[in-house]
Amino acid sequence: MDFGFTEEQQMLRDNIRKFVNKEIKGSYAQDLDEDPEKMFIDEAMWKKIKDLGVFAMAVPEEYGGAGGTIMDDVIINEEFARGSAAVAMSFGATTGFGARTILFSGNEEQKRYFLPKIAEAEIRFALAVTEPGGGTDILGALKTFARREGDTFFVNGQKVFITNAHQADYLLTLVKTDKETAQRAKALTLFLIPVRDNPGITIRPLKKFTIKGASACEIFFDEARVPASHMLGELHNGWYELLKTLNHERIIVAALTNGIGQAALEDMVAYAKSREAFGRPIGQYQAIQHKIADTIMELEFAKLITCKAVWLLEAGRPCHLEAAMAKLVSSEMAFKAATRGLDILAGYGVTLEYDMQRYFRDSRQCTFSPISNEMVRNFIAEQYGLPRSY
Ligand SMILES: Cc1cc2nc3c(=O)[nH]c(=O)nc-3n(C[C@H](O)[C@H](O)[C@H](O)COP(=O)(O)OP(=O)(O)OC[C@H]3O[C@@H](n4cnc5c(N)ncnc54)[C@H](O)[C@@H]3O)c2cc1C
Repeated sequence: MDFGFTEEQQMLRDNIRKFVNKEIKGSYAQDLDEDPEKMFIDEAMWKKIKDLGVFAMAVPEEYGGAGGTIMDDVIINEEFARGSAAVAMSFGATTGFGARTILFSGNEEQKRYFLPKIAEAEIRFALAVTEPGGGTDILGALKTFARREGDTFFVNGQKVFITNAHQADYLLTLVKTDKETAQRAKALTLFLIPVRDNPGITIRPLKKFTIKGASACEIFFDEARVPASHMLGELHNGWYELLKTLNHERIIVAALTNGIGQAALEDMVAYAKSREAFGRPIGQYQAIQHKIADTIMELEFAKLITCKAVWLLEAGRPCHLEAAMAKLVSSEMAFKAATRGLDILAGYGVTLEYDMQRYFRDSRQCTFSPISNEMVRNFIAEQYGLPRSY
């Protein structure tokens, strides 16, 4: 067992960190968070990220990419989130719900059509699963229906809280395609619904106070068209196809919150060394040191469980539980890290001049999204033979 990065992984991490320190940390991240008009990275930043070669890393070489691994996805998303969770989300939705999902569930024709465009950062993706009736009991709440007429499906219904939908070219969307069956998991199909030139789609961003530089949108489908060739996997098998993507999504959210936790740790240590009280740096006081020590330990646990989930996913082994646990441990670690950071920065911590308040707000979103930590605890208990509680 080797707990270290390979030389390539170390180089990747160093490159992204250098980029994030220069281009994202500080004023770019703050502006993206504070300007209500900005709900996505701007075109110039999209281009800079493209030039880093990281979109291509999610795509195998045979489809025009650079053939990066899931661990590379984790390194990239963690490092982006160390500068800005919104930047990580704006990038990660396309590599996750585009490249990785198409690799998990797409046919050869779909791979040849979509993957080279993703490698070149020409198209953007969002995941549209949650509906107004609820995100946790998604099988019970899902009402959006697609009706088939020849080679086209017509979609009617509504989704909510969809990250970056207002920027997406394709919505990875779970819809009902069978109203007859009593088996809810076998009534659903996964589609890549094109947004451009599709008049049946209306998208409206909601105002929110977490990860403000990435939108959360309502989507209304009114006879929206999707060609049958954009179906991922088999008809009525969409739930099972989606599960493959959800493990990756949870691992990426774990990486993202590890990035927030890392940033909170670095900022609290720097502040503890420079802020003085009673004639000494506050970092000399044990109460402050213990908060920092707890954060260091919890961040280490979170990174380790994330790596274990990656290891299982890359080996093609079941990782449903580990991916969900990584998301839970990392999101709670990041929120606790930011909470301790606010204790240490005290008055300055709540001002917008310091990033700690942003880490606190941004990490909070990830304790219930993409899956609530209550639901993860349900799964964990069930694994140990306890009866399903819902
Ligand atoms: C900013 C943001 C971005 C998002 N981005 C996306 C996206 O891109 N795509 C997408 O599809 N969705 C997205 N979501 C939706 C997200 O996945 C849901 O918010 C999440 O699944 C929870 O669903 P809900 O908000 O409807 O809460 P509910 O399902 O209504 O749950 C409410 C509360 O009840 C608890 N609860 C429910 N059932 C149980 C149970 N059996 N046991 C214990 N507790 C239970 C939950 O844990 C939670 O605390 C996003 C949400 C937000 C806020």
